[in-house]
Amino acid sequence: MGKVDILISEVGPRDGLQSITNIMPTAAKKQWISALAAAGIREIEVGSFVPASVLPQLADTAEIVAHGLTIEGLQIAVLVPNLRGAENAIASGAHKISIPLSVSETHSLRNVKRTHAQMLEEIARIAELVNSQPAHKRPHFEVGLSTAFGCSLEGPVSESLVVQLAEASLKAGCHEVGLSDTTGSANPAQLRRLIDKVWSAVGRDKLTGVHLHNTRGQGLANALAAIDMGITTVDASMGGIGGCPAAPGASGNIVTEDLVFMVEAMGLKTGVNFNALCAARELFAAAMPNTELYGFTPMSGLPKGMEIN
Ligand code: ZN
Repeated sequence: MGKVDILISEVGPRDGLQSITNIMPTAAKKQWISALAAAGIREIEVGSFVPASVLPQLADTAEIVAHGLTIEGLQIAVLVPNLRGAENAIASGAHKISIPLSVSETHSLRNVKRTHAQMLEEIARIAELVNSQPAHKRPHFEVGLSTAFGCSLEGPVSESLVVQLAEASLKAGCHEVGLSDTTGSANPAQLRRLIDKVWSAVGRDKLTGVHLHNTRGQGLANALAAIDMGITTVDASMGGIGGCPAAPGASGNIVTEDLVFMVEAMGLKTGVNFNALCAARELFAAAMPNTELYGFTPMSGLPKGMEIN
């Protein structure tokens, strides 16, 4: 596998599916994940270790992780809400664990039923567990600073609080922080400003990825601002599926297909084969016929003479 300039972290199987009530059969999820990997996607967030009663759609996460681990070269990421989830994630063998820390405390209480102080204690406990694993079994542990650009419950979010929580999370022992526009409120200037502020506080190597939603159509503009700054990992969801059940009005992630087109058209490598990515989209559409898929490039096709492979 060649080197990529921008790592596209596909979050459709987690962020995408979690807001869809029709349960995708486990076998179909496995085929979809295999097809995404075959298209050259290098990292996939395959599920979330939450109780099945909370998110029945993701109840098969351990089995999906096990399947993902059989695919050579594929980085398997999972979301966890707490220490219990992290224990399950480590037992599953996932390569990367993310926990959401909502900058909006109202959203945090709604999403994971914990205050900032309680979440930071939980993050410290998870970090201790992660860092006590032998090196070859130790997952990368990231804290995703959600609602970092605004919250549909609280409204504007303080940028200095984002920086403070980034510092506190790293002090608690996580390996990296990410910036998440959970509700799709961000604009490119805000992305640049906040990335710069967090980098100044914690260093560039402690923030390398962003998670964006396309709620107000700003997703690709925001992704471009982040990439221009030097961010190297961008989360996206095939077909733009997704949302957050705990944040009213949050819609899907930025569309993987359109992001691949933008990045490759600018001369940067994603490692993705566009036609194979569209085949994964068709496979998903056949398994989940009632789910609306978004994206302009899959509809219009690549410009004449252009190939992405
Ligand atoms: Zn999200």
